[in-house]
Amino acid sequence: MSLVRVIEIFDSLQGEGYWSGVPMSFVRLAGCNAEALGLACVRWCDTPQTWDERCGRELTVADIVSAVGLPRVCITGGEPFLQSAELACLVRELHKCGRKVHVETNGTVDPASLFASGGAETEPDWVVVSPKPPDYDVAADWSGSIDELKLVADEYLDTRLAERLSSLHPGAMVSVQPEWEGGREARERAVALVMAHPAWRLSLQIHKLLGLP
Ligand code: SF4
Repeated sequence: MSLVRVIEIFDSLQGEGYWSGVPMSFVRLAGCNAEALGLACVRWCDTPQTWDERCGRELTVADIVSAVGLPRVCITGGEPFLQSAELACLVRELHKCGRKVHVETNGTVDPASLFASGGAETEPDWVVVSPKPPDYDVAADWSGSIDELKLVADEYLDTRLAERLSSLHPGAMVSVQPEWEGGREARERAVALVMAHPAWRLSLQIHKLLGLP
């Protein structure tokens, strides 16, 4: 039985993006590659407790499946694709129990192992890729598999860059989210981007506004 390194499992409202406001069970996996890759999101990351791949605890997939209570489960991190094989197993078992599975990733890890390992059974129902500054690189194999592109409006994100990222992933809806610590400037940048691109939408991290986990 696969062991998965997990930081926490909890129920809350999805606070970000297209599914904002919908109750979900969250499974937060350990480990993040942002520091090793030199990504600038380490400056504003709100889950630094996930970075160390040795943190949290090891759970079996069965333990995790029995701990989630809601019809939709969001697997997040850290960077969940650092545990690709375990992730595939977890998605498959959650599907067997009738759950819809969302996955959030920074897009730097090739997802082929997940998508190739079990066909539709291991394919998440909703994939959110949030490319990170300064280069916003997304592994080539993500092409065509992204449901939602989440762009954090920090000082790196200007109109040209946001439009380029959107054009690279034409099938993905775009959510623009003010960087939480960026204050009024980040909020205004996010709103201006969305107002100039009516097909995009604003993501406000409503769980934080409501004081939820
Ligand atoms: S990739 Fe995500 S978890 Fe990792 S440092 Fe960046 S924002 Fe934080």
